[in-house]
Amino acid sequence: MTERIRSCIGCGRKAPQGQLLRFVAADGQLVPGTGMPGRGAYTCRRLACFERAVSRRAFNRTLRRTVRIDQNLASLYT
Ligand SMILES: [Zn+2]
Repeated sequence: MTERIRSCIGCGRKAPQGQLLRFVAADGQLVPGTGMPGRGAYTCRRLACFERAVSRRAFNRTLRRTVRIDQNLASLYT
């Protein structure tokens, strides 16, 4: 099975899905969403991409809704 290619919403880099972190919206909150159904937003595993996505409101745009973003999500990035 070929891995699907997704784009990082921070920097725009395209990569196999498995190399990116996936997020979904759950009750208006952004949550890590590996394997969860629904629209997903992806970032590289780099904090800079997450912060860039947050500052550009790219999560809202990609998920097509307003999501609250817990800054603790930054701890997913090492
Ligand atoms: Zn990126």
